[in-house]
Amino acid sequence: MNNIVIGAGISGLSFGYFSKKPFIIFEKENIVGGLCKSVKENGFVFDYSGHFIHIKDKKIKTLIEKLIGKKLLTVKRNSAILFNDKMMPFPFQANLYYLNEQQKQKCIDGIKKRKNIKISADMPFIDWAKAMFGDGITEYFMQPYNQKLWNYNLKKLTAAWTAPFVPKPSQEQIIKSAYSKNEQKYGYNSTFYYPPNHGCQAMIDGFYKKLKSNIITNSKVEVIDLKNKKIYANGKYYFYENIISTQPLKELLLSIKDLPKNISKLIKHLECTSTRCINLGIRYKKNPPDMIKGVHWIYIPENKYPFYRVGIYSNVSKNLAPKNCYSLYVEMSDTTNCDNIIPVLKKTGLMNIDDEVVSINVIDMKYAYVIFNKARKKALEIIFKFLKDNNIYCIGRYGNWEYSFIEKNIIDGKNLAQLLNKTK
Ligand SMILES: Cc1cc2nc3c(=O)[nH]c(=O)nc-3n(C[C@H](O)[C@H](O)[C@H](O)COP(=O)(O)OP(=O)(O)OC[C@H]3O[C@@H](n4cnc5c(N)ncnc54)[C@H](O)[C@@H]3O)c2cc1C
Repeated sequence: MNNIVIGAGISGLSFGYFSKKPFIIFEKENIVGGLCKSVKENGFVFDYSGHFIHIKDKKIKTLIEKLIGKKLLTVKRNSAILFNDKMMPFPFQANLYYLNEQQKQKCIDGIKKRKNIKISADMPFIDWAKAMFGDGITEYFMQPYNQKLWNYNLKKLTAAWTAPFVPKPSQEQIIKSAYSKNEQKYGYNSTFYYPPNHGCQAMIDGFYKKLKSNIITNSKVEVIDLKNKKIYANGKYYFYENIISTQPLKELLLSIKDLPKNISKLIKHLECTSTRCINLGIRYKKNPPDMIKGVHWIYIPENKYPFYRVGIYSNVSKNLAPKNCYSLYVEMSDTTNCDNIIPVLKKTGLMNIDDEVVSINVIDMKYAYVIFNKARKKALEIIFKFLKDNNIYCIGRYGNWEYSFIEKNIIDGKNLAQLLNKTK
């Protein structure tokens, strides 16, 4: 009997690649790749917003290079923050030098006056930020940026997602950064990798070549019948040995026939932020804007802008935009104010006034950031135990209901395949 994989995103494809047991991957879309797909339009290659590859495990780099048949580009991160209408380096908390005197003082006072409380990942994010960085840094960056990104009450969001994503310089380093420019690189992604051609999709294409005979596209797994160990997809039933689910956990549970009440009542705790990515292909008159020269992405905390991040694909790889052009992605979670972003981009200097937009591609990601609310951890323990007892294994960013990224998704697919390869 087959193992059945739900979803041909990077997690499902990785599972398939390492699997030695018979398996079928069902993919509801007509193409594979999930959020790691790329879109080709008017000579531009757009991803589903920046999809850069952060790798710690050398084996994963070797695997991806084998799949794409080329060396990955190695890129030294150049990320910035738009603040006080100027660019400053990331992260905010290690670059106070760029603030005005009053803001600097508020940040220094804030970090010195922090209350001596025990910091824990289960704290509300906003309390965590104040305890970690003080009131000033929280007021100018941590609160407004994260409010825009999560679009959720920051008192109800816990800090459990912050490691490894929020750099944590010491009090001494933070204060020192107010008086002299910081030269140290912080964060998990100070160097990242990217395929030289075809965007993030290059990696997906590599997997697909090996696995296409195992994949059925345009086939949503609609119902799971635990009692009879069969699923309904593609107009018929398929029996399974194990299910490997990469679809959003909430939707997996909703598709299970006769889901026990103690499990269904936990679904309400599975909350998620949606994100809109607006990809722009732009032709410049003379040069790309000075403000974005060499920059890969920009964090935008201030409320006067509707978007929280803007990235420049064409600064990561020239192959992503045609001659005399550059390309941006603009991300926002609250889409109520997003009608006229082009004049806003021009006003900020992220586009030149006389540049011409030649391509606009809008992608709405319903599931983008899993919300780390207080109930999440306990609910997941109960849900995953129930699923495992019924031969359902969850992997991936939305399958496992976590804040993960490509490298972890590939590793989790590999580890699960190797585990199931050993079963009789
Ligand atoms: C805005 C944003 C930026 C990101 N940037 C980065 C980055 O720079 N670097 C990085 O490493 N990661 C990044 N990520 C994370 C990365 O996108 C994910 O970790 C990765 O794509 C998750 O892959 P997955 O296969 O687990 O899930 P998905 O990509 O969601 O794939 C799941 C697949 O399942 C299919 N599916 C769903 N339901 C069913 C069903 N019932 N039947 C059949 N098929 C189904 C879907 O169509 C989809 O193809 C970013 C994510 C977001 C939202």
